[in-house]
Parts: sequence; structure tokens; C-alpha cells
Amino acid sequence: MTTKIESRVTTNETVIEVAKVNKWFGDFHVLKDVSLSVKKGERIVICGPSGSGKSTLIRCINHLEEHQEGRITVNGTVLDENLKNITNVRREVGMVFQQFNLFPHMTILDNLCFAPVWARNMPRKEAEDTAVMYLERVGIAEQRDKYPGQLSGGQQQRVAIARSLCMNPSVMLFDEPTSALDPEMIKEVLDVMVELASSGMTMICVTHEMSFARLVADRVIFMDGGEIVEENTPDKFFDNPQIDRTQKFLSQIL
Ligand code: ADP
Ligand code: MG
Repeated sequence: MTTKIESRVTTNETVIEVAKVNKWFGDFHVLKDVSLSVKKGERIVICGPSGSGKSTLIRCINHLEEHQEGRITVNGTVLDENLKNITNVRREVGMVFQQFNLFPHMTILDNLCFAPVWARNMPRKEAEDTAVMYLERVGIAEQRDKYPGQLSGGQQQRVAIARSLCMNPSVMLFDEPTSALDPEMIKEVLDVMVELASSGMTMICVTHEMSFARLVADRVIFMDGGEIVEENTPDKFFDNPQIDRTQKFLSQIL
């Protein structure tokens, strides 16, 4: 992982548009006038201190959380209370969490086939073929008949990525996908994410993995206190942060 992956922004097509979004948990103002536009093929890394609203922001993008003000649009569909719109957006958006969230009582193959078969009515054979293709892509096809508990954390996270890809998303959201992993397993997951980035996937990744950010990010966004406070290319962001809060944060993680 040394050479910068070239930008895949080939069109002007906007995939995600977050416009002046505000969200409160009770009295607590968790997202403050957040705006973010992501083009097709673009890779965004979001970082910032714990509690700054990073997870809440990306969870709003597939409506795992509801925002109260502003507008979120995914591939032209506005996320509002219209259930059809929410379903349409969720079809487009894959999400990978810190905790892998695999179904523990199902084999790896069944984990991957479940949603395509039951939510998309895909014939089982076709779902299996797709699943095996993605398991091969993340390098663990030989684990297909095992249960999640029999795999390492790094392998489970690769399964979680493959499971998302089986739904053919047009954008992938990652929420600190390597934070729960032992250090020796981080690279195998980042390698899969780098491969995904070089294939042209539109991605928003909450991560503090700087080598990954430098390698794939078109833009790094820094959040603090519910706001986007700085945004830049990775090299400028890490080498020459513009504001005090970013400098302080980077001095803590570097
Ligand atoms: P980050 O991912 O940057 O660590 P989060 O988006 O998880 O931050 O959380 C931002 C803030 O919102 C934190 O102070 C957190 O305690 C609070 N928060 C998150 N989820 C909830 C919730 N469901 N109810 C109330 N407060 C929440
Ligand atoms: Mg978080």
C-alpha cells in the first residue's frame, strides 16, 4: 500500500448531497448545519474526535438515524418520511460497521445470501454464485461453510464487506471498520477497502487510518462538535492542517 490510488471521479454526477443538515438527540445538537456533496467515484474519509457526530452523520445517510432539518439526497432520491424513498436509498447504500454484525447462527454463505434471497427475491443459486464471487474478491471463499464465530475478526469484517457488496450498492459507507480489530488484522481489511476504492466504488469512510486516507481519499473531512470544521486533500490535511482543532486532534493520533 504505497502508491496513491488515482481519483475515480469521472463525471459530475452527485451521488450524495447533504445540505445544511441539523439533528438533535433530545436537547443535544449533534449535527450542526452539515453540508457534504459526494460525486460518483469519489472517496471521502471522515475523521474527528470521539463524539463529534461522525457515526450519526453517516447513519443519517441511510436513515438509520433521522435528521430534523436540512436535506439528504442519494442518487436523486430525497430522504424524508416517505417509506418508499427510504427503501430506495437503502438499496443504493451499503454499510459496514465497527462491529461486524454478522448473523452468528448462519454460515458465511448464508449470511451473504440472506438479504438477496429474502429482500430481493433472487434465486438461491444466483445468490450463491454472487456470494462466492465476492468471497473470492475479499479472499476468503474457502471459509464459506463456517460460522462467523469460527473466523478471526479480520475475516469477519471481510465477510461483512462482501455481504454488503452482494446487494450491489452504488455507494459504501464504512464506520470505523478496523477499530475493533487486533492490529495484525487491520491491513487485510484495509487492503480490501483499497481494492474497492480502485475499482471505482463511491465511498465514505469514517476512519483514523491515515495511510489508508493518504492512499485513497480524494478529500478528508474533519468533524468536531457536530460540525465539519476542515476539509482538504489528504496530503494538505495531514501535513498542513489549517485550524487549531485539527492540529490538536492530529497531534493526538499521530
Ligand atoms: P462519533 O461517531 O463521532 O464518535 P456519534 O455520532 O456516535 O459520534 O455521537 C455524537 C454524539 O451524540 C455523542 O455525544 C453521543 O453520545 C451522542 N449520541 C449518539 N447516539 C445517540 C443516541 N441514540 N441518543 C442520544 N445521544 C446520542
Ligand atoms: Mg462513531
